[in-house]
Amino acid sequence: MDLLYRSTRNNEETAKASEAILRGLAGEGGLYVPEQIPALDKSMEELSGMSYQDVAYEVMKLFLTDFTEEELRHCINSAYDKKFDTPHIAELVKKDGKYFLELFHGATIAFKDMALSILPYLLTTSARKNHVKNEIVILTATSGDTGKAALAGFADVPGTKIIVFYPKHGVSPIQEKQMITQRGENTYVIGIEGNFDDAQTGVKKMFSDTALAEEMAAAGYQFSSANSINIGRLVPQVVYYVYTYAALLAQGEIADGEQINVDVPTGNFGNILAAYYAKQMGVPIAKLICASNENKVLFDFFSSGCYDKNREFILTSSPSMDILISSNLERLIYQTAGRDAEKNSAYMKALNEAGRYEITDEMREQMKDFYGNYASEEETAAAIKKIYEQTGYIMDTHTAVAESVYEKYMADTKDDTKTVIVSTASPYKFTRSVMNAIDPAYDAQSDFALVDELERLSGVPVPQAIEDIRSAPVLHDTVCEKEEMCSQVKRILGIQ
Ligand SMILES: *Cc1c(COP(=O)(O)O)cnc(C)c1O
Repeated sequence: MDLLYRSTRNNEETAKASEAILRGLAGEGGLYVPEQIPALDKSMEELSGMSYQDVAYEVMKLFLTDFTEEELRHCINSAYDKKFDTPHIAELVKKDGKYFLELFHGATIAFKDMALSILPYLLTTSARKNHVKNEIVILTATSGDTGKAALAGFADVPGTKIIVFYPKHGVSPIQEKQMITQRGENTYVIGIEGNFDDAQTGVKKMFSDTALAEEMAAAGYQFSSANSINIGRLVPQVVYYVYTYAALLAQGEIADGEQINVDVPTGNFGNILAAYYAKQMGVPIAKLICASNENKVLFDFFSSGCYDKNREFILTSSPSMDILISSNLERLIYQTAGRDAEKNSAYMKALNEAGRYEITDEMREQMKDFYGNYASEEETAAAIKKIYEQTGYIMDTHTAVAESVYEKYMADTKDDTKTVIVSTASPYKFTRSVMNAIDPAYDAQSDFALVDELERLSGVPVPQAIEDIRSAPVLHDTVCEKEEMCSQVKRILGIQ
């Protein structure tokens, strides 16, 4: 029996895994969720002896039940190869009594590579399985990191085009340079005069535009999504939580069955939701620490039960978390509302119309394993400086938000459970903010001078992803208003 996926906004709509991956978004703007979270069928002891690729197979086979073993292993082995600069794929580093889970060893040096290096294979396999003849147009909104990772993953993949929208004034200089220098005949990168939420809203709108879908189909195209609303993003992210627990066990850092906490710098709620799914699969995770930057809508939500996006959008030094509409939270809302699409839809309607909703005490009770807090810009910078001075380890700004929130968690709870802090980006991706945190005098230097200085301070060699953009030519320079996103897509596809 195949595991089915259901829409969070329509109790009748179901899909097999490959169909859910292909469509990206369910009808009426809903998200696909598995009917139940499968339990691991291997013990941690067994998993602790496996490679990343084998753990990935053990986890993903339980979610993507309509893929054959051969298909799934092909996807996994094609994704998790030499594109990563460590054979472990995800690297666990112990510093200052905590474990930093470095998820930035892939081609674009942010954790998005963990899922986006496999998504193109999952998608093209799904297209083949479902006899899709159309060309697939990957439509993506990015706060900086998804865009580059998706571009790298889909560049020159036959049968696909990829269009990325990013906030023109809301990403780091290195993030922007990485995207606008992207090669590949099928790649398109557009800056918008607006923030990430505008980009995400524009993309979601195109997905639910049925007239547009018909025009697309007539021209031989169909949309899919590389955002974490696609279940094909979420499932590969569950893998590294299982792998990490198994690795801690293999290294003798924990006893079998011992609980750990995970602390995740959060934006769209995809990464931490994957940790929650891992917990439901049987990984002994106690607390899920949800770390926000000054866009602290999730902190307020976990503290009050009220989600309220009516507030100023703040540009911070952790731009990949500058988000006020955390899309994947909808999956948690749906689940805690008793897997009731009608109830969930009412909340999402309220969010859309009034910008806020309030959940019931019963739902809050089911979220008690989540702990939310946030770090200010000053606290984030102070965390980078402190860990550098104490240990020599240099974190990026997003990881520093999580580190800072962990300090608050410890002060609040005195809970000394071993904790994994998820490190979502290489410091080289946010060089200016990172170096300024260590010494504001660095601000006078150029981006690439700072790159060299970061290498000297950290002793970590400059990653290939940075070397690649030092002298790369700009290949994409389109900028548009947020209202023009759809006409840009039509122009690219030649369907106006
Ligand atoms: C995307 C991103 C995040 C936020 O992850 P979500 O899954 O959207 O919560 C955090 N840090 C970095 C560096 C990212 O690229």
